[in-house]
Amino acid sequence: MSDKDDAETMRGRLRSERVNSLFSEDELIEDYYDQPAANDSSCWNDYGLSTLQSSGTVSRSSSMHSGSTEGLDASAQLLPIIKAGWLDKNPPQGSYIYQKRWVKLDADYLRYFDSEKDTYSKRFIPVTSIARVASIGDQKFEVITNNRTFAFRAESDADRNEWMRTLQQMVDERKFKGLNRISLFQPPAGALDSVDKCGLLELRGFKNKLYVVVAGDKVFLYKNAEDYRQGIGITYIEMNVGNVKDVDRRGFDLTTPYRIFSFSADSDQEKDEWVEAMQQSIAEALSNSEVAEKIWSVEANQFCADCGSPKPDWASVNLCVVICKRCAGEHRGLGPSITKVRSLKMDRKVWTEELIELFCQVGNCVANQFWAANVPPSEAIHVASGSQERRRFLIAKYKEGKYRRYHPLFGNQEELNKALCATVTTSDLAETQSLVFCGAEVSCFSGDPDFPNPIALAEQAGQKLQMEFLLHNKNSEIPRVEAGSSEEKHYSVILPSVTHNGFLYKTPSMAKLVHERKSREEFSRRWCTLNDSIFSYYENDRNAVPNGEIKMEEIVCLVNNPPDTHGYESTFEVYIESERLYLFGLDNPEAIRKWVKSIAKSFIHPRADELLRLDFERIGRLQYKGGLSLERAKEGWFALAQSVLYAFFEDSDKEEAVHLKKLQELSIQGDSLVLVERRRTLYIQGERKLDFLGWVAAIQKAAGCSGDTLSEQQLTESDIPVIVDRCIDYITQCGLTSEGIYRKSGQNSKTTSLLEMLRKDARRVRLKEGEHHVDDVSNTLKRFFRDLGDGLFTKEFCQDWLKAAAIENEEEKIGQYRQLLSSLPMVNRATVKALINHLYRVQYFSEMNQMNTHNLAIVFGPTLFQTDGKDYKAGRVVEDLISRYVVIFSVDEQEMRKQQDEIQAIIKMRIAGSSSGTQQAGDFICTVYLEEKKTEAEQHIKIPATMTAEELTFEILDRRKIETKEKEYWSCFEVNEREEAERPLHYSEKVLPILHGLGTDSYLVVKKQLSMENMLIYLASRVSDSKHGMMKFREERNLLGLGLSTGFHDRYFILNNSCLRLYKEVRSLKQRMPAVETSHRPEKEWPVKNLKVYLGIKKKLRPPSCWGFTVFYENEKHEKQQWYLCCDTQMELREWFASFLYVQNGGNVWPSESSKVRASRTQQDSRLGNISLIPLRGNENEMRNSVAAFAADPLTLLRNV
Ligand SMILES: [Zn+2]
Repeated sequence: MSDKDDAETMRGRLRSERVNSLFSEDELIEDYYDQPAANDSSCWNDYGLSTLQSSGTVSRSSSMHSGSTEGLDASAQLLPIIKAGWLDKNPPQGSYIYQKRWVKLDADYLRYFDSEKDTYSKRFIPVTSIARVASIGDQKFEVITNNRTFAFRAESDADRNEWMRTLQQMVDERKFKGLNRISLFQPPAGALDSVDKCGLLELRGFKNKLYVVVAGDKVFLYKNAEDYRQGIGITYIEMNVGNVKDVDRRGFDLTTPYRIFSFSADSDQEKDEWVEAMQQSIAEALSNSEVAEKIWSVEANQFCADCGSPKPDWASVNLCVVICKRCAGEHRGLGPSITKVRSLKMDRKVWTEELIELFCQVGNCVANQFWAANVPPSEAIHVASGSQERRRFLIAKYKEGKYRRYHPLFGNQEELNKALCATVTTSDLAETQSLVFCGAEVSCFSGDPDFPNPIALAEQAGQKLQMEFLLHNKNSEIPRVEAGSSEEKHYSVILPSVTHNGFLYKTPSMAKLVHERKSREEFSRRWCTLNDSIFSYYENDRNAVPNGEIKMEEIVCLVNNPPDTHGYESTFEVYIESERLYLFGLDNPEAIRKWVKSIAKSFIHPRADELLRLDFERIGRLQYKGGLSLERAKEGWFALAQSVLYAFFEDSDKEEAVHLKKLQELSIQGDSLVLVERRRTLYIQGERKLDFLGWVAAIQKAAGCSGDTLSEQQLTESDIPVIVDRCIDYITQCGLTSEGIYRKSGQNSKTTSLLEMLRKDARRVRLKEGEHHVDDVSNTLKRFFRDLGDGLFTKEFCQDWLKAAAIENEEEKIGQYRQLLSSLPMVNRATVKALINHLYRVQYFSEMNQMNTHNLAIVFGPTLFQTDGKDYKAGRVVEDLISRYVVIFSVDEQEMRKQQDEIQAIIKMRIAGSSSGTQQAGDFICTVYLEEKKTEAEQHIKIPATMTAEELTFEILDRRKIETKEKEYWSCFEVNEREEAERPLHYSEKVLPILHGLGTDSYLVVKKQLSMENMLIYLASRVSDSKHGMMKFREERNLLGLGLSTGFHDRYFILNNSCLRLYKEVRSLKQRMPAVETSHRPEKEWPVKNLKVYLGIKKKLRPPSCWGFTVFYENEKHEKQQWYLCCDTQMELREWFASFLYVQNGGNVWPSESSKVRASRTQQDSRLGNISLIPLRGNENEMRNSVAAFAADPLTLLRNV
């Protein structure tokens, strides 16, 4: 037994046959003690107590431990005694003398002691191991476990029956409830689970070594390992009163106020391990009482947040949930980026006061309101759930966030971050939790360099619990339902196996885009093979070991260069995930084409293989965001061919095409390339730098003007070059009544530079009155057509057009024009129509601009046909097209009428403008931002005097092609940067007066009003139209020259339908509340109509919360005041603000049918009467003469105009 090897064999294992054979009978138990069992209570005192300062008399209630105070005795507190009393225990084998024992029953154990004063039992039987209780006559009964039977004799039948009833009841209850308390002895697995150290140790006073188990906050003594397995032990020591100290090399004492246990280990190393384990156990026992009890003081924390098990003694410190041991095990499996598991008992260091307080304030209750907001009963777990069930549930709950309550800002990263920055300065931990686990970034930039992130903001605001929460979640992963699925999709794809080989010329791989031409000398000849999805290159075709390899799945982009880009006629580039670029070439275009096709086929996802049919310049995968869900980037497959970007998006198997020349906007925002189309916006993200930069350059090039023919220009949706569209639009707006429009030539230098700008990127050019003269613009348009490669009518058909002009028969001639028109390329045809339509409008105002059809023909004939003016037929064609516009272009009546109305409206507006002396009919061109103030979000917009905030909002949304969805409350905000405050304009407010009133540090922005929904709900559900409540109030210092207090002070406010009143005396007010409005004098009172309420308070004033208002007051005498109000919560802020809006707008806070307004808006100003078309001026004869004169000397004619 004392053999060291033997002992080590035993340690950690649960076998001890030899020991067991000696003590196989329970009745031998008393023999474990060196001294025969005695009936007196001195049994323990005979040994071991020698080192105690006061012997024998130490009682349970004495405080031997200086540090131990009331409440430390966890066993007494947590496990109340259910029944106790004297019983006779049947004797060990061979003896007939019953032994008197003090027997105690608590929820966990049935124990018996020598006397009622003893702390340490002679035997304990876990209640969970009791199978049943049976009566055996003579006041006797048996307690039967799976493998042992214990017999007792009571003093009376009544007493016996009472014991049996109590015991049986507990056994039945357990069975009935299936209650699976964390017990060391219930399932063998459970026993092993929580054991920190176990093995044989000598204990002074015992003949044989005991099997000692350190588990949690207790040390258990068993006579051997077999007993341990069965759960039947001698006694256990509550370590909250324990103290361990070294005695000699192998010996150590475990001291308690009641007894000293002198152990001896087999080696000094063994001893050290035991000492450490027991000290840990003491630590756990002590922290148990300190931490667990504090945390359990909140009722919701007394049950596992996940399965409901009672007394959970583990926790996830970042999720703020208290959990049971079994759930803790599964939590660990999720990894620390999702949940950080700590013990309430053992991990003492982590439990700072802040963390404990955080668990009391958040804890299971608040955490589950978020995490378990929508748990279907079928998916919930309970105490008896198996580990697989637990794992599945916990993954869904915390990793995928499947049951969580979504924050209203979910998906809107910027707003989430902003909200987080604001919330962490308040005590609203639930909101912080919701924001963080719906995607707000714990380390986002706050915009304030002094307090750059939410943690710093929380610290500055003195919000320690917020800080604690943020610190534990600094690196937390945000739950996502799709987590892993896209990865799986990607990696489980089986790529087609393509085999190809041959010689190629290769340059060394590069980490930068290739801008310069690579000469032949920079390439080396390599034998290349493509096999099993690996492209390998070898020194030559006889080498077995490749110089290098490229795996197909790491290719992100393949580029087919234009011929002669480098020294070899044909070249292609391969980009791989790790930001390298490989360049290959050959003087054989056909061979290169085959290589490109083979490689493309082996790395393109099979669902996107339609892209392979294209004659692409570039193909690959990119991250993108688009459509309705912008919160997560997805992977798409893209190919660029000429000016079309083809794409297979993640959630669709349909190919989509983006016509790059027709983009409304192409810009780089941060790491994304933004492509704005008429109906959608696509964000291509720079996941990797190298291939992204390549794509950006290629897309920009393809989207720009690529040549001097019409179809190579940037185009509008209706296939008209943007240059033409911009110029026509500008002349229509500003030049229709300008005398000699299109005849006057403007300044040459300005024309040149404007045309250059438009050719470079017409989309970006904004023609502005005052900046661009109409004659410069008209001249630019003429110059564009004159210089156009291939001309408007194309070289091919040019002569046919001129011939047609000579046809005498009118009908035949028109037929011929129509015929020719239909044979033009689409862009030319659309452009001819747009231009002639425009000229038709211009001649309509010839009384003012002096440019009749004839004069326009004289100007445009030579321009469009690019002739020197000698052939009069050119002018004749243009004249025919204008005068026969309606017939030749099949324009229908309605379209004509609509145009006419528009023109009338423009003219009317301009005339009104000039007569009133102001420049622009009261219009005001101003800059309005979309969503935030930055250059890309700028919109220049003409604001008529009648325009409302709602109309302005729709105008901006229309321009940006943003469709509003239900429950989206787009509004126009007035932002005051100096005051750090903003105000959503009421939808019916006129914008122009506000614009005139804006200071230099204010601007307008159109964005969603995120709390509108909540405010409307509040308004709809409240009982009274007035609002009462406390707010913190602060006046702007010295505004009225008065010595006003600084800082925020509690005041009581009442807002009714005409006034806001401030009261200082809250107490007296409360008592008299019902009559308050009439009987109690407010300290201050302001008419609501004179208030302007802005959201936000500048940080400099150190508002007590971020939920504040800045209020401006101005009365009829133009006396001004400015002050601040601050609420405790966002909800209060919303309620107050909603109440202000309600009162100020007579209850009309949001339009009930806003969509109707939007739909009808475009037609609003165009009902200006049904003026019939003025007949064309000039007869046939006059026209012929003038054309003839023009043919002879064009300049003579122009002089007369
Ligand atoms: Zn649990």
